[in-house]
Amino acid sequence: MDDHAPCGRRLTAPNVMTAASAEIFPPRQIDPNIVEAGRRLFAREARFVAGAIQASALPRDNLPEIAFAGRSNVGKSSLLNALTGRRALARTSNTPGRTRQINFFDLDARLILVDLPGYGYAEAPKIEIKRWTDLLRRYLLIRATLRRVCLLIDSRHGIKDADYPLMLMLDEAGVSYQVVLTKTDKLGPSELALIAERTRVQMASHAAAHPEIHLTSALEHQGIAALRAMLASFAVFPALPSIVTAPVRSR
Ligand code: GDP
Repeated sequence: MDDHAPCGRRLTAPNVMTAASAEIFPPRQIDPNIVEAGRRLFAREARFVAGAIQASALPRDNLPEIAFAGRSNVGKSSLLNALTGRRALARTSNTPGRTRQINFFDLDARLILVDLPGYGYAEAPKIEIKRWTDLLRRYLLIRATLRRVCLLIDSRHGIKDADYPLMLMLDEAGVSYQVVLTKTDKLGPSELALIAERTRVQMASHAAAHPEIHLTSALEHQGIAALRAMLASFAVFPALPSIVTAPVRSR
């Protein structure tokens, strides 16, 4: 149950964090029922459904979607694998900029997880960057079922210049997005508290940004339970078992 406990590592920096929860900033208690709902949802199988390199190849949208975005090497594949408990759901790779398509995963026919291409890879050819930037913009503008984008930020570096074009696109498209700090195991509690506070202040001026920040480490499984809980709140209810009714006889 370690990863599913509502409270994570204690961060003790004065006036910045209390011990309520180190998985969300500003800290707050998470309803254990919602944490349990997240645990149950992510215990189900996540299945790859499609990969799109152009807008015309986007799969039909009929379930709520949550997309994951971030700079190459931010830890996106590792986080998706930790969330779904699948080692190779999104291929963990140390080669920045390896995937250039939008990948869709179906979670128990209740939620779609969307893996957006990593950005900020300086050596990618310009034409390639333009192609997937156009695809991303189109996806953000037309996807009616997109509920939220998790913007992954490496906790050691905070928001970088390379993150702003996407933030601008999200603000313009009016897509709700939320920062998820990654690799928190690399920082001590006070450093983490400071970066979380700095990020919160930076996000406050962005119209479409959610005020809460998730703090995660895929390596130590920290913050995974809280993130699952947040994601589960977007899932549709499980389909009811079909009820076989006896035909009505006319008298
Ligand atoms: P992606 O390019 O965003 O998909 O990033 P990856 O998931 O491939 O991770 C990039 C590098 O960061 C790899 O060397 C991972 O082992 C490392 N990494 C990912 N998540 C964590 C984490 O939570 N903690 C630490 N310490 N390293 C991580």
